[in-house]
Formats: sequence, structure tokens, C-alpha cells
Amino acid sequence: MSAAPETLGPSARTREYLSGEHLLLINGERVPAASGDKIEVQDPASEDIVTSVAGAGAEDIDRAVAAARAALKGEWSKLTSYERARLMLKFADEIDANIAQIAELEVLENGLPRMISEFTVAKFGAEFMRYFAGWTNKIHGKTIPVSPMDAANGETLTYTRREPIGVVGAITPWNAPLAMAILKLAPVLATGCTIVLKPAELTPLVALYLGELAHKVGFPPGVINVVPGYGHTAGAALAEHPDVDKISFTGSTAVGKKIIEASTGNLKKVTLELGGKSPFVVFPDADLERVIPGAVRGCFFLQGQNCMASTRLFVHEDVFDNVVEGVAGGVGQMPIGPGLDPNSLLGPLISGDQRSRVMEFVDAGKSSDAELVCGGEALPGRGFFMQPTLFSRTNMDMKIAREEIFGPVLCVQSFSDSELQAVADEANATVYGLSGSVWTRDISVAHKMAAMIDSGQVSINCHAAVDPAVPFGGNKQSGWGREFGEEGLDPYLKTKATTVLF
Ligand code: NAD
Repeated sequence: MSAAPETLGPSARTREYLSGEHLLLINGERVPAASGDKIEVQDPASEDIVTSVAGAGAEDIDRAVAAARAALKGEWSKLTSYERARLMLKFADEIDANIAQIAELEVLENGLPRMISEFTVAKFGAEFMRYFAGWTNKIHGKTIPVSPMDAANGETLTYTRREPIGVVGAITPWNAPLAMAILKLAPVLATGCTIVLKPAELTPLVALYLGELAHKVGFPPGVINVVPGYGHTAGAALAEHPDVDKISFTGSTAVGKKIIEASTGNLKKVTLELGGKSPFVVFPDADLERVIPGAVRGCFFLQGQNCMASTRLFVHEDVFDNVVEGVAGGVGQMPIGPGLDPNSLLGPLISGDQRSRVMEFVDAGKSSDAELVCGGEALPGRGFFMQPTLFSRTNMDMKIAREEIFGPVLCVQSFSDSELQAVADEANATVYGLSGSVWTRDISVAHKMAAMIDSGQVSINCHAAVDPAVPFGGNKQSGWGREFGEEGLDPYLKTKATTVLF
């Protein structure tokens, strides 16, 4: 890895922003935490502390939930669907107008390469918001021709209404700060709910910046509240809060289970987007010119800190050596460096703790029967960088193949069986079921295999083909419910049936 050139650093505008005070956003006002607590934000590429933000505690969560509750009954509820959409579209335009600024903040707090951040801000920021703005005037109930009990002798009209579920507590991870916040904000705003958003403590800046942009475009106070804080304090207080109607959580499966327990007090509704260990299945007739770069991107995007990452490659033995050699070559050509360097394709991991955790998996792989093909070392010097790592000849009994690593580590195993079910059984042999892909030119094999993989989404001859309009979510311990697309509205709505006896 070459050292970052001297000139690399945030722009003057970003430096000025970072030098300001970063407070909680509650009821349209920027306020300090009741305790006065602050959380430092570290740049994972340099290990420098770039700024600090107010750190919310239970008292601040109470204030934010009260503001969201009041907003639900105020001016926000009186806006027409068209007016809500207009605000969302203005919000999307503001995001577009600030792509460079948002991307710099995201790179500084998360470490991802700038070009990936800029793409994400446009596609999963502005376009995602616009997609959901289009739904505001298409959320409606049905009329149902029935003769209900108690009204058998009269003429009736029965209709359903789709009402906002209420106050939403959203808790997000650090791996894609902008996208994670927008995936919560957009359906909340489209359905007329209000939100208390708690971003991950490691990456609070982009969420706060988005909250400020939303305030600027005119969302009424209290509709969007942003409260950075630690999971065991602010997150736990939000998850168990008696006046929160729904929790929308994205994060690890272990914390997802805690969210379910915390929700039981008032039986709030819960949706969960959790971990993954996605398979990438290559049949011998697949186009290796597409497979090899697809496998590199699929696993190492965001340094492998990606819930959909294709971390398990199942390759038919006829093409096994070619694929392993090609992927190792592709991995070796990925420039590693700070996200602000326009040449970087692999940034640092999010923190020293995360890199140590990933290295424990690498060590477990090295002491197993798997073959280390490339990588396997943390990089010396400043920043939480590590080599992208490829293990070959893995099997599903190995810890590295079974558990979510959430780092740049790819496991490759071969198959020879022509029985599709046997390959699918191996692909499904984890507790996760988030994503997956099948690579073949045989249309029957492709569709049969796609049907057999137990995941929320499966792609054919590509991986992680996400789009705002396509439902996204996990099977098994990868989650509850779906985000994105029309189905992504359902968790934010409740159906009321009304019957009139004339
Ligand atoms: P994490 O579960 O540690 O933290 C996620 C969020 O939960 C953070 O905001 C954290 O502060 C909060 N939290 C922690 N403990 C809490 C508690 N007791 N009560 C309430 N909130 C609490 O996850 P992470 O390390 O930030 O992110 C990585 C994980 O997220 C991986 O498992 C990854 O697969 C998953 N993820 C899933 C998706 C998806 O769409 N399925 C997307 C991105 C990330």
C-alpha cells in the first residue's frame, strides 16, 4: 500500500463543517445531549479523531420520541399526499446538490472509497427518496363486498384504510451510513409516519447532516429526529420505549434478537435486516469473463463489510482452478488506500476492533485444512487496513465458511455433484438467507437453482442486484420483513377495516 499523498484530505467546506458543533436533532432544533456526553468520530484510514458529536442517552430518546409523537398529530398529518411527495422530492434534490459533501463525510467516518460513496449517495440517497415519493398518493385501501355479522339485513359498505403505523424508531449500522439512513427515512416519510433515527455510534455524521438537509427543505419539526448514541444506551432505550410503535432495525443478528426482546413491553412491531453469508454458485458452463470480476466485486465491495457480500464461492471442479486463479489475480489488482484517494478500491476496515475480529477468523482459517491462496495479513502503519484474503478448499464445517466475518475474506469450495439439490443444500447450510447468485448459461439450471436457494434475493449471472423498486430482506436469521419496493411500505402501515350500515 502506498502512503496517501500529502494533498489528500477533506475539502475546505468539509473541514469547516467538521469544526462546527454536532448536536442532536430533536423537534427541529439542534440540542446538546442532556448528559453533555459526546462521541468522538475517528477516520479509520488515518486513525485521527475528525470531530465529536453529542451522544444521546435515555433522556434524549424520551425527548425525541415525544417530539415524534407530537409531530404525528400536528401539521404533518394534515399535509396531502402530494405535499408530502413534494417535500420528499425537494429533499432528494438537496441530497443530489450535496453529493460531494455527503460523500466526504461518509468517507471520513466509514473509510469506504469516495467513488463508491458518491454512487451510493445518488442511487440509494436521492433516487431511493424519489422512488418512495412516488408512492405517497398510491397508498390506499379497498372496498369489500360483504354482509358482515350484525348487519345481515341491511345494506353495508366495508372499506379499508392504510394508516401510518406511527412513531418509528430506526437503528442503523455503520457499514453504509447514507444508504442505511435513507432506507429508513424514505418509507417513513412516504407513509406519513415520524421517525427517531439512531445511527451507529461509529458513523453519526452523515445521518446528522441528512437531518439538517431535511429540516432545511421544510419538514415540520419532530417529523425527523436524529439521535446518535451507543447501542446499549440510546439504542436500547429506543427499542424498549413504550411510546414507539415500530422499530426498524438493521444490524447484526445477535443485536436483532435483543431488539425483539426489548420490543415485548408494548408489543411494538419490528422489522429486522440482519447478517448474511451469501453463496455464489458457479456451474462449469458459466462465462468466466463475467464470473471472475463478479466474484471479486461481490465479496470485496465495502471491504467485505456488506451484508450481501458473496463470501462463499461454490465452484464446479471442472473450472475450480481457473476461477480461483482468476479471482486471486483480480483481488491482487485492487488498489488499497484511503477512501479520499480517487484510486482506492479497498479502504480500511471500520475500526481496530473490527480488524482484530476479522483477523481472528483469518487465523482460524490458517489453522484449518483450508488453503490460504492470497492475503491473510493486516497492513502495518496507520489506518485499519488489511489484505483481501482468499481461502480455497473450504467446507461448511469450517468456522470461516459458516459464520459471518464482515470483512474481506472469501471462502471457495468445489462441487462435482450434478444433483442440484446437493449443491443447494451446501449453499443453504448456514443460519443466514439474505442474498445469493447462480452463474450458468443453462436457463433451466439457473432458475431451478435460484428457486432452491433459501434467500430473500437471488441473482442470475450477477450478484446483489439491488434497486429501490425491488424487495430486499432476509430469510432465516437474516431478518424479518422486506425493505425497498411496494412491499417496503407494508411495515410502516396498519390496515383499518370500516363497515357502514346504511
Ligand atoms: P450491530 O448490530 O452491532 O449494531 C447495529 C446498530 O444497533 C448500531 O446502531 C448499534 O449502536 C445498535 N445497537 C447495538 N446494541 C444495541 C442494543 N442492545 N439495543 C439497541 N440497539 C443496539 O451491527 P454493526 O456492527 O453496526 O453492523 C454490522 C451488521 O449489520 C452485520 O451483521 C451486517 O450483516 C448487518 N447489516 C445488515 C444489512 C441488511 O440489510 N440485512 C445491512 C447492513 C448491515
